[in-house]
Amino acid sequence: MTQSASTLINAIAQHAKSDLAPMVTAIDQGQYPEQYLRKLGQLGGFSASVPQAQGGQGLDLSVQIDATTLVSRECGSTAFMVWCQSTCAWYLLNAANNAVRERYLARVASGELLAGTGMSNTVKHLAGIEKINLRATRTEQGYEVNGSLPWVSNIGEDHLAVVAAHVEDEGYIMFAVRCNAPGVTLRRCLPFSGMEGTQTLNVRFDKVTVSNNDVIAHPLQFKAYIQRIKPGFVLGQTGMGLGIIEASIESMRATNQTHSHVNVFLDDQAEDLAAELQTLKAQVADLARQAQTGEAPLLDVLKARLATSELALRATQSEVLHTGAKGYLMNHGAQRRQREAVFVAIVTPALKHLRKEINDLELLQAEAA
Ligand SMILES: Cc1cc2nc3c(=O)[nH]c(=O)nc-3n(C[C@H](O)[C@H](O)[C@H](O)COP(=O)(O)OP(=O)(O)OC[C@H]3O[C@@H](n4cnc5c(N)ncnc54)[C@H](O)[C@@H]3O)c2cc1C
Repeated sequence: MTQSASTLINAIAQHAKSDLAPMVTAIDQGQYPEQYLRKLGQLGGFSASVPQAQGGQGLDLSVQIDATTLVSRECGSTAFMVWCQSTCAWYLLNAANNAVRERYLARVASGELLAGTGMSNTVKHLAGIEKINLRATRTEQGYEVNGSLPWVSNIGEDHLAVVAAHVEDEGYIMFAVRCNAPGVTLRRCLPFSGMEGTQTLNVRFDKVTVSNNDVIAHPLQFKAYIQRIKPGFVLGQTGMGLGIIEASIESMRATNQTHSHVNVFLDDQAEDLAAELQTLKAQVADLARQAQTGEAPLLDVLKARLATSELALRATQSEVLHTGAKGYLMNHGAQRRQREAVFVAIVTPALKHLRKEINDLELLQAEAA
């Protein structure tokens, strides 16, 4: 790791211990950590992969994943919001149009403008899993958008959202929209079993005007654009899982100080999980460096993301079994991490989605061979 990367990572680690750790239970139960996120943005916690000339740290996506991992060791919900924010910066950095990048990138990268990504529906739609929810029609200055998205996190009246819509006979657009724009309505969702502090809302679009200046990719640019951003979108989420796995292993080691004589009979021992984690982290870091320059093979990216979900589920389950009744207490990290790991496995691309896409890609490659 370079000197500037380790300075960034150390600052984020200290800040997570001092400012995030005390709030974790409150966040799990619904408190949105806005001040923590804004300070993290000032420290550079969302902008490792953004060049310095554009307001970032001038490092790369592997360092951004390290930052998300550190946050996730303390709080998976907050790590998800770090992914939301840093991924919006990633979208803008790679935008096919300058105007939208100049308007928003520096402010999103620094956390001055908080942002959510409502791309699950489109990503699932493009993988042949569900219908697209947002429809756009061309206007003189851009597009008019209608429809709704059931769940978008890290948004609010003064936030930005990045979403995509279908344009009849043309394809798709991706664009940024202010959440208080005329025609945009935010509604509360039914309570979730975890991730309650992520400010996850239902977003409705009723004749929303999107100017060309807010368009990240027009229909003719969309296919190449999605191919460019998807590896980073998918890999960025591994930070959530890797941090949860690290925290579970640490908790298992602590429990083994007194209970190793009986914990030794459990599957997935701490040192075995730690060895698998090291291999996975090295793979993710290599792929992330390739994704930064647009060279990461998608199949390997999907497999690394799948391996992260699977290992997070195994590690958190082993942690609850190691920690026993203590870990079953409401204020213990073990039960919270188990719910966070399930989220890693259900957020798009979910574990089932990843297996479908990997299967589809492997079939295509076999046909072409
Ligand atoms: C806490 C939380 C935060 C999330 N944050 C984001 C985010 O920031 N951005 C984002 O794009 N996505 C977000 N999602 C959505 C997530 O990424 C998945 O797309 C979602 O969980 C559905 O995936 P699935 O694999 O369960 O879908 P599937 O099992 O394939 O399908 C779920 C089914 O539910 C249907 N459905 C649609 N709307 C609703 C609804 N309101 N209630 C019930 N069912 C519905 C769908 O049509 C679909 O048929 C979030 C989800 C959760 C639970």
